[in-house]
Parts: sequence; structure tokens; C-alpha cells
Amino acid sequence: MNLLDKTLDSLTQHFQLHYKKGKYHARALIREIIKNGNRNPETIPELVASPEFLRQLSSSGELDSFLPLPDIVEICTENLDNEICAENNQINNSHQDRTIKFVSRLQDGQHIESVIIPMKQYNTLCVSTQVGCRMGCLFCATGASGFQRDLTTSEITSQLFNARFILKKSIKNIVFMGMGEPLDNLDHLIQSIAVLNEPHGFDIAHRHMTISTCGLVPRIYELAASLIKPCLTRPNLAVSINSADQEIRSSLMPINRKYPLAQLRKALLEWPVTDRQLILIEYILFKNLNDSQEDARKLADYLAGLKVRVNLIGYNYANNRNRSISLQPVEDSDIHKFASYLEKYGIFVVKRWGKGANFKAGCGQLSAKKE
Ligand code: SF4
Repeated sequence: MNLLDKTLDSLTQHFQLHYKKGKYHARALIREIIKNGNRNPETIPELVASPEFLRQLSSSGELDSFLPLPDIVEICTENLDNEICAENNQINNSHQDRTIKFVSRLQDGQHIESVIIPMKQYNTLCVSTQVGCRMGCLFCATGASGFQRDLTTSEITSQLFNARFILKKSIKNIVFMGMGEPLDNLDHLIQSIAVLNEPHGFDIAHRHMTISTCGLVPRIYELAASLIKPCLTRPNLAVSINSADQEIRSSLMPINRKYPLAQLRKALLEWPVTDRQLILIEYILFKNLNDSQEDARKLADYLAGLKVRVNLIGYNYANNRNRSISLQPVEDSDIHKFASYLEKYGIFVVKRWGKGANFKAGCGQLSAKKE
């Protein structure tokens, strides 16, 4: 039994079924272990007061399997000049405001990467949902590393546990933008959202979660349908567009051949945004490929009628081999210029300056392969 894939309801059901215990004990465990990071269940007052239950949990072996945490095997953070890597899970206090990438080793020996990004008032955690990715976007190191497997729910949620209680960072925002295409692992994604949202546990509000997709159109509909019922509020949707030109987008993102821009737009029109939400459009700028005024006009036309905000990101060189086209990074001035074109067409734009790019923690740089 694994607490990292349980909500209060599902743990209550488990206790009722196997131990004739209920919500009182389930709430205590989730509160102490998941919310407070206490990794010693034998000190939880509600369990201490129920010695027979504690004995049953212990003899069934469940106490030992409560928290199957992956080991953090590497931590990288940046100083002003270059990277610092730590092997001993320690982050120097002087690195509090820096982007941090940590590598976790899963039980089968695979590795995943997660990134803690400092924001003005809190930290955002970028989590992985797969080991590798099968979508093959041309600009992405994860895509180039190939697909190994989906992560389980607990492998996804353990990234937050480790960030909060091993690395001791306060995290308020989760973005599903690490390794993998989240909608390609939909069942575990949906279960993770429920576990992360559990008010007695991780307690991350839906509005503080963002799911990023390259445009798996049928799964966008499935995700919308699965979230509408249980959620009054919904996580944010981010879609990686990168070009509103069919040919250019297909050359960057193979998924566009299967689900072309027009189909994607229809799915976005039907995505249930609440009054206070926008769909986030991710647009990575590549020099002389998708950064002209004409590219901005096409994007503005494509987004007309959608409630969106465009996040502009400069390309991070991801060291991909076997590329059919050469991808070049842009200057900061190109980002400003493209933003001003879009603004002229009435599009709400945010310029995102690549955090962590100099030590491969930036967008498109995470990789399943340990170097
Ligand atoms: S950008 Fe996202 S969907 Fe595309 S290959 Fe990389 S991880 Fe996969």
C-alpha cells in the first residue's frame, strides 16, 4: 500500500476493507506523512492510541511500503557563473533563489528529472510524467532520448514529496512540463492530480496546477471530461504550439501530422475554461524559423476567438542529434520584437526568460539519459 497514490477517500476505503478502520485513521496518516512529512508512522498519535491496528499494519508489511520514495541521486543548481552539482542531497542556503534540477532514480533504475523554479512569492515544481517521451519534438532532449515507460501515480507525486521534505523547498505550483507528454499517461496524470489536490495531504489547488501538452487532441477531450465532474475549479491547460504554419509545425512536432492545427484549435475552443482562466499557449522562438512578423500574424489569426495567453520562450539548445533542420537560438531582442508584433494584434503575451538553461534544466532540456 502506497500513500503517494492515495486520496483520503481511497485510503479510507482501503482501511475499511482490510482493517475495519476508517476515515479517522486515514486522515491522520495522510496529514502526518503527506502534509507534514513525518516519515515515522509509529509516532502518529492516532496510531499510537490504536496499538492493535498499528501491529496489524506492521505485520502485513504495509508500514514498510507506505512511502516508496525514489532516491535523489543528483542535484544541480546554478550560481552566477556556472553550475554546482551536489551528490549529498544538500542545497546551500545561498542557493535559495536559484533554479534547482534534481535527478531521481526509480526502483527499476530509470532516472527522471524535476526542476524547482523560484517565482516571486513561491516555488514552482516542474514534474515528469514519463521516462523519456514518444512524441519526438525536434527541439527537445527528452524526445531525443526516446520512450522508456510511463511513470506510476506515486512516481509522479513523489517528486513533490522529495522537493518539499528532502530538499525542503516550499512549493505552491505544479507544472506537468517535465519529461514526457502528460496526456500520453492520462490515467496516472488524473490520479496524480487528485492526490496532489487532496486537502488533507499535498493540498495543491487546481488553479496552481498546469498540464502541458504537445497537442494530443483526443486526450484533451478526455481530460476535460474527466475533470469537469469532480472539480469545481480546474487545472490550467498549456499547449505547445510553436508555429501556426502547418508545415513548420509538422517539421518541429511530428504530432501535428496526426492531429493538425485545425483539429487542435477545435479542441481548444471546447476546453472548459473558467471565468478567471486562460489557455496558455507555449511558443518557443527559433531564429529565422518562426520569429517573423508574418509568423506572429499567423499565430494571432490562429488564436482569434480563444481565451489565451502566449508564453514566449527562447529556444534552449538541447544538443539533439539527427536533426533534419537546424534550430538556432534567438537573441533577447528577437523575443521582444516578436512579443511586440503579437501585442499589436491584440494578443496577451508573457516573455519567459529561460531559467536553468545553462545547466540543462530549461524547457526542452530534460533527458532520461544520465550523462
Ligand atoms: S516537448 Fe514534450 S511532448 Fe515534445 S518530445 Fe519533449 S517532452 Fe515530449
